[in-house]
Amino acid sequence: VYLKKIDAYGFKSFAHKVTVEFDAGITGIVGPNGSGKSNITDAIKWVLGEQSAKKLRGQKMQDVIFSGTKTKKPLNYAEVTLFLDNSSGALNIDDNELIVSRRLYRNGDSEYLLNKEPARLKDVIDLFMDSGLGKDAFSIISQGKVDEVLNAKAIDRRVYVEEVAGVLKYKKKKEQSSDKLNKTIDNLNRVNDILSELE
Ligand code: ATP
Repeated sequence: VYLKKIDAYGFKSFAHKVTVEFDAGITGIVGPNGSGKSNITDAIKWVLGEQSAKKLRGQKMQDVIFSGTKTKKPLNYAEVTLFLDNSSGALNIDDNELIVSRRLYRNGDSEYLLNKEPARLKDVIDLFMDSGLGKDAFSIISQGKVDEVLNAKAIDRRVYVEEVAGVLKYKKKKEQSSDKLNKTIDNLNRVNDILSELE
């Protein structure tokens, strides 16, 4: 899977629609401090489902919406779209291209789109999990990440290996199933309580 293009509008410092195209190979983004280089990687993480405002260097999620400058008014929503090439078939979908969008309004309304169809956050996360492209995967290595991996405790480092090996998806599914099982046991206990009251 490779990232072909990003469209961003109203995301952080991008007050106008910005398109960044990536050719195969390495793309370098250069610019002065504060010019918005990291905002581009934030935008990618955001579309891939990042839920932590802090990890996007903000206080609350609405901080990703363009907040205005001396000459420009704040905007009402932020929207980022990633165009991915899936001709290798690495993502579990039929199409050769995947278009993922996320939009967030100031009032907190938010939506995800997969190939222009409304989708849930879970659909986005499931699609990218184990593809090596998830928001926490190694496709985005920000400043400090290399140190973090090198200095991580063995148990934390194992999570990285599990993501790369594709185990994480099954671990998550196992957790979800065991949650469901626990809820069902609770329900069963409640039913038994009621039954014994009735007897
Ligand atoms: P450095 O090289 O210092 O890391 P950078 O090029 O990576 O800089 P970013 O951190 O991506 O720069 O961009 C920071 C800029 O984005 C700041 O000028 C900040 O004011 C602006 N910015 C962040 N959030 C918003 C927002 N919601 N509305 C408007 N501008 C924003």
